[in-house]
Amino acid sequence: VNVRAIAVGLGAQVEEVSLDYSGSFNWIDGKPVIRVNANEPLVRRRFTLAHEIGHFQLRHEDSFRDHPESFSTGNYDPREIAANQFAAELLMPEIAVRYLVFKLNLKAIGSLAAKLQVSEVAMQYRLKNLGLIS
Ligand SMILES: [Zn+2]
Repeated sequence: VNVRAIAVGLGAQVEEVSLDYSGSFNWIDGKPVIRVNANEPLVRRRFTLAHEIGHFQLRHEDSFRDHPESFSTGNYDPREIAANQFAAELLMPEIAVRYLVFKLNLKAIGSLAAKLQVSEVAMQYRLKNLGLIS
């Protein structure tokens, strides 16, 4: 999934810069601006970008500055939970996951995560939520 192309296609300005947090979503002069911390690993940057697209598309109108805790399952802010769910569905579409698992017979979480360019932790949660692992 080309997350950056999706963000840009939706009209967001995407900036990869050095930040002291993972990412942010802001309206600046009426334009949606997503910033992603360029110093974090690729799979984290992809998840952050997808999460910020979530804040944008779910019409969370405030500014968001996301630290790693925003992405953890211990976060109970409903907007962060919704943005994480959005990110999981965007990066690991159910149809793609089912195709990899059942048609290509990829069962190992590491292989699935590598195919979809997500972290193994994110992949594991997605498989659980789709009922494909217990
Ligand atoms: Zn957030």
